[in-house]
Amino acid sequence: MNKPVKQHLIDPEICIRCYTCENTCPINAIEHNDDNVVVDPEICNFCMECIPVCPTGSIDEWRVVATPYSLEDQYSWEELPEQEDLPSQDEAATGLEALDDAVAALLADAHSGAGGKARAPGTVSKPTINLYTAGKPAPAKVQGNYRLTRDESHDVRHIILDLGGLPFPVLEGQSVGVIPPGVDSDGNPHLPRLYSISSPRDGERPNYNNLSLTVKREEHGVASNYLCDLKVGDEVQLTGPFGATFLIPDDPEARLLMICTGTGSAPMRAFTMRRQRVSGNQSGGMTMFFGARTPDSLPYFGPLKKVPKTLLDQHLVYSREGQKEYVQDRMMVEEDLVADLIQDPKCHIYVCGLRGMEDGVERAFTSIAESVGQQWVALRDAMREEGRYHVETY
Ligand code: NAP
Repeated sequence: MNKPVKQHLIDPEICIRCYTCENTCPINAIEHNDDNVVVDPEICNFCMECIPVCPTGSIDEWRVVATPYSLEDQYSWEELPEQEDLPSQDEAATGLEALDDAVAALLADAHSGAGGKARAPGTVSKPTINLYTAGKPAPAKVQGNYRLTRDESHDVRHIILDLGGLPFPVLEGQSVGVIPPGVDSDGNPHLPRLYSISSPRDGERPNYNNLSLTVKREEHGVASNYLCDLKVGDEVQLTGPFGATFLIPDDPEARLLMICTGTGSAPMRAFTMRRQRVSGNQSGGMTMFFGARTPDSLPYFGPLKKVPKTLLDQHLVYSREGQKEYVQDRMMVEEDLVADLIQDPKCHIYVCGLRGMEDGVERAFTSIAESVGQQWVALRDAMREEGRYHVETY
């Protein structure tokens, strides 16, 4: 057997084909065709410059291999191969000692950290991914563009896009890429920007081929200003759909614990509507901790008020009204409820929104788990392994 080597790969299920990594790589080790973006094992020198620029984390994939996967292999993949068992049976007794230090460290890295390797729920519909690319995008027509927030300085929009007769199958929790028109400061076409879909699989309007996005206007944001200014009838170029793990289980008995901030509520809206459409207001089993600055800046505040508690147990928290409160603070207040959920093998956890919330949420889970004699890290890693722990933060 060849001495194992580490290989840098890109996850085709998560990658949004924005080619930022390819444009960043200083030695042209990354290339693409209409299907996938791939890393040339002959050229890549692990300089890591492509890692932080990737908007989805799909770039951060590594395998230890006896023979590197070829470009041809990588172009043919719809999903990444699992890490093969290395070394061989004889060498297995000595385990990682058989690998050189760098490789061992790499393996350890790949399996540690709160991010960890995401897995789809056990009972899940098969997502379609990457049907439309930057080279071959799907044109969609704007059907509606509604402001969701009353706060003057916080413009969040609900944007409905109609795909007409074009097949664009999506599942709740998936995202689409939006290509802003025009060129960037270097004269290159803009790269797609990723947005979570906030409508359920059968359409914003049931059985219509449309979907919705939840978009906050960002100062100087190229895509967000473009989207927030769209008028009914305008055409938008979409890529995707993307995402194969942050998905809702089909099992109607699964209990969902959803923790989100701001526009991170987009997939939670889709999950809630899915459950409501499948089993009416009785389906239950959904708990949400949702953080915003004020009620006036909380997307979907009005519609949420009408969702019955039998369907969704809501904990809306505000950081700039009354006593400052974050989602993780409210989780601590509701620790009995959270403790019950995290110990239930039917519970799926979804965290979506600001990257900064992750630490606080982890700390809350740690403390709540300890209060019932459990170790959060072990619980979380088991949940993730079973496709029951999902984090999507930007
Ligand atoms: P935002 O209004 O800036 O913040 C929402 C709430 O989160 C505020 O109350 C904020 O409090 C609070 N917050 C700030 N730091 C926190 C922390 N460390 N822990 C817990 N809560 C914290 O949110 P936003 O502008 O809508 O941003 C949402 C994020 O979600 C963006 O980064 C976006 O990229 C991401 N996201 C969006 C989508 C989508 O589909 N659009 C999907 C996934 C993720 P204070 O500001 O008062 O401190």
